Amino acid sequence: MDIQANLEQVKKSFPNPACQLIAVSKTKPLADLQAAYAAGIRDFGENKVQEIQMKQPEMPADTRWHMIGHLQSNKIKYIAPYVHLIHGVDSFKLLLEIDKQGKKINRAIPVLLQIHIATEESKFGFDQVELDAMLSSSEFTNLTHVQIQGLMGMATFTEDLDQIRSEFRGLKKLFEALKKRTLPSFVDLKELSMGMSGDYQIAQEEGSTMVRIGSAIFGSRNYPTP
Ligand SMILES: *Cc1c(COP(=O)(O)O)cnc(C)c1O
Repeated sequence: MDIQANLEQVKKSFPNPACQLIAVSKTKPLADLQAAYAAGIRDFGENKVQEIQMKQPEMPADTRWHMIGHLQSNKIKYIAPYVHLIHGVDSFKLLLEIDKQGKKINRAIPVLLQIHIATEESKFGFDQVELDAMLSSSEFTNLTHVQIQGLMGMATFTEDLDQIRSEFRGLKKLFEALKKRTLPSFVDLKELSMGMSGDYQIAQEEGSTMVRIGSAIFGSRNYPTP
């Protein structure tokens, strides 16, 4: 696996060269992360707290760790001090818990709200009703130790490119609508994390600012991850 060549290929194929690349290194050995780092990558995506904890001390200090998977409340504390961005905040309960952990270490933790845009029920994320309920609650306004930087979404796993495009377009529309709303100062909507190996070009055409790419860089994973 020539990670450097893959990275060059991937970047060359970006419809929007300004879009940020998160190299999704879940399940991959440290040597692969080091190869990507040597090729200039600083942003790495992982979906298991235990795996970030194992890899983090072994990588250079300027490595930025993105938690992209479903995060369990009881594990926030392990990554709270250094995580660069938590992409998968999929419930108000989890956001409250992140705020609580942030308070303990006096850090406003950067997060994205994950929105459910796919047709699969198995995928995580807020629906419109849950999102509106949260944003208009006083409990939300009173948060102090989170920094909401944008939204994240995963399209349906399908061959139907029109469907994928329409799901990304819907998320972008929601993103723009939210930006127009008056929200607390800890909400600064600038990032739209959408797009993976199979659909990052469509995602960028639809306004993505961050793509999370794993297999196109590191090769296919040996075992499936949730
Ligand atoms: C695994 C994963 C990715 C990367 O998937 P690839 O298809 O390998 O690019 C992106 N986002 C999330 C949330 C993931 O879990």
